[in-house]
Amino acid sequence: MAVLPRRKTVVVDVGGVKIGGGHPIVVQSMTNTDTADVASTVNQVMALARTGSELVRVTVNTEEAAAAVSKIAETLDKFGVRVPIIGDFHYNGHILLKKYPDCARALAKYRINPGNVDIGRKTDDNFRTMIEVAIENRRPVRIGVNWGSLDAMLLTRMMDENSRRAEPKDAREVTLDAMVASAVESACAAERHGLGHDRIILSAKVSGVQDLIDVYRALAAACDYPLHLGLTEAGMGSKGIVATTAALAPLLQEGIGDTIRASLTPPPNGDRTEEVIVSQQILQSLGIRGFTPQVTACPGCGRTTSTFFQEMADEIQTYLRDQMPRWKAVHPGVEAMKVAVMGCVVNGPGESKHSNIGISLPGTFEEPKAPVYVDGRLMTTLKGNRIVSEFIDILNDYVTTHYA
Ligand code: SF4
Repeated sequence: MAVLPRRKTVVVDVGGVKIGGGHPIVVQSMTNTDTADVASTVNQVMALARTGSELVRVTVNTEEAAAAVSKIAETLDKFGVRVPIIGDFHYNGHILLKKYPDCARALAKYRINPGNVDIGRKTDDNFRTMIEVAIENRRPVRIGVNWGSLDAMLLTRMMDENSRRAEPKDAREVTLDAMVASAVESACAAERHGLGHDRIILSAKVSGVQDLIDVYRALAAACDYPLHLGLTEAGMGSKGIVATTAALAPLLQEGIGDTIRASLTPPPNGDRTEEVIVSQQILQSLGIRGFTPQVTACPGCGRTTSTFFQEMADEIQTYLRDQMPRWKAVHPGVEAMKVAVMGCVVNGPGESKHSNIGISLPGTFEEPKAPVYVDGRLMTTLKGNRIVSEFIDILNDYVTTHYA
């Protein structure tokens, strides 16, 4: 894995998961079930954790949701799923955390939105109440600013101050400044109320790629708290994936970001775990962390009219991902393995030689045989209709002998 510079931060412990201070960048996700529906939420948390989410956030928006949180945690525990659960609070977190102490205890971290915890109030009493609950339960908090719910009083104050400058900044700049100020000032207030410096994580999410890069650079320069990185409301499909990657990659490259989330909108009845795979893929593509052996596959072209190699590449990637929960435990290092599935002889053998294991399928008019390379050397040539299963046998054999 590449050694990239990492911004120096304090370390925050979230239910046993260390965030910041050079620890591996943590992948997190969020459920979209009704938290009050214990069974659905448990199932989704389990699916997210099985895919590799190391923290899972659930919304705690109502009394029913707050009452369900401890049951969710207990059920996960019974199933042996130890992923820390984070509570996402808006408007009424101070009430719910006080009224439902089991909820406060079951959560590993509280997300507080400074833009709506004390909305329309002259004091920060509600914020203070949440901080006091965090101190009482020895829990960290994430102070999560979002420009969709930025503290209106703070923004107005900063806009007014800006208008009195000799050379005023534009509204975009002031808004981004206000996001940084909201996060940092709230963190200082939390510390004044008694919360430890090492119990605070910050985030400042926006939905524009350039805005996100600018705001996180400023936030990183302004403090040493670990930062949770994510492009908010990234959107659906390729737009959401590309925008998230475009926003997170330069920041991660600069050593900014200690935990990440891809805020993708799944299609109706779509798979929520995609956001975990995307986050992992971003970190793995940048060479920061490895999660699953990677399949290199060519895009295909007129030299191979068959879809067989596309199906095979998909089948192999799915097979590798499905094996990972077990392999991770018994075959350490296997996540760094590289596999190539190529469509024809043009780039097939070359790419195969750059991988741990590679197969080059026959293109149109080529002889119907598929050379398999292992560690750069031709190992065998597969033929017939059992190519996929025979290739998987070779893969399994390689994993067993090389990652003991
Ligand atoms: S490896 Fe062969 S099939 Fe694949 S893109 Fe290149 S030329 Fe086309």
